Amino acid sequence: MLHPLSTEIYFTFNNGNKVPAFGLGTAAQHERVAETKQAVKAAIKAGYRHIDTAWAYGVEEYVGEALQELFEERVVKREDLHITSKVWHTMWNDVDKSLNESLARLKVDYVDLFLQHWPLCTQKVPDPHGVDKIAKEPVDDQGNPLYDEKGDWIETYKQIEKIYLDKNDKRVRAIGVSNFPIEYLKRVLKECRTVPACNQVELHPHLPQRELCEFCSEHKILVTAYSPLGGNGAPLLELPILKGLCEKYNASPNDILTSYHLRQGTIVIPRSLNSTRIASNLEFVPLSEEDVNKLNEFGQKNKKRYINGAVSSVIPGFKEDFLKEQLQQS
Ligand code: NDP
Repeated sequence: MLHPLSTEIYFTFNNGNKVPAFGLGTAAQHERVAETKQAVKAAIKAGYRHIDTAWAYGVEEYVGEALQELFEERVVKREDLHITSKVWHTMWNDVDKSLNESLARLKVDYVDLFLQHWPLCTQKVPDPHGVDKIAKEPVDDQGNPLYDEKGDWIETYKQIEKIYLDKNDKRVRAIGVSNFPIEYLKRVLKECRTVPACNQVELHPHLPQRELCEFCSEHKILVTAYSPLGGNGAPLLELPILKGLCEKYNASPNDILTSYHLRQGTIVIPRSLNSTRIASNLEFVPLSEEDVNKLNEFGQKNKKRYINGAVSSVIPGFKEDFLKEQLQQS
């Protein structure tokens, strides 16, 4: 049976906008950010139509350079692309500024999806190595996160929503959140008018987050899976449970890990700076429901979060994992 490539699969947001279900992540390591330009060009030339980026990644100018060249070379038109950007927690009450900076760096007039990166408010602390010379994760002398005590994370979503609901403002086509647990989504549903189009969270066979995904599905919030390969070095490619599936479907571990999300109606945004990998990680594997369930059951018994740190430990769900990690290290 013939199957589409992963880049050919589209889902629909709750506002009716279409979104390519498979995108390129761009959270490059600090010393490699400039390589993002060639990665984005390679991805779009290979058929990707979705780029996931963020103010905090420090890569938007390279994404922007790539896009401009692709438009000039007539490889793709702006309207055929989906671009996501996000507002970082140091900019929690400066959403308008953050969005304008992202658009200027990306050299586009609008983003297709604009997300609140984390439900956190942290202080703006000068740092020559930070994004816009502001420390990304501000800490005090003891290394404790410097939260902004006057901040309330819902304020960020309200500012995003205000831009989205303004009929004269065309800068965002859909809005959403990232790293939001169920309790926080409930507060958004109660206090705001716009149901997020999407919740972008860490998701893979070690962290299937079924309860969160079911809640999102009930409320017509699409889920996007970040770190689908486990982040730097792609540790999940070595998961023993994938071996049998690779043989059964004659597929690579990479394609199994991304298709696992697509099969469940979840958007997935793997990252690579390697053009050969970018162009070859596109096969959609039609995993059976039984095999998807097997991977979900594995994760429920073997929970592991890769994106976790002191700053996120105040968010329900993250706290427990962070404490467990600290205990393992001590
Ligand atoms: P991924 O899970 O996508 O893994 C990236 C790593 O996998 C890189 O080291 C890459 O190396 C490697 N890799 C990719 N393909 C292969 C392959 N076929 N074989 C071997 N290695 C491979 O990590 P991310 O944490 O970056 O997650 C993806 C995206 O999700 C991010 O880039 C970002 O856009 C988003 N994200 C969002 C977050 C949020 O808070 N909202 C948090 C974290 C991520 P190489 O470049 O050498 O190929």
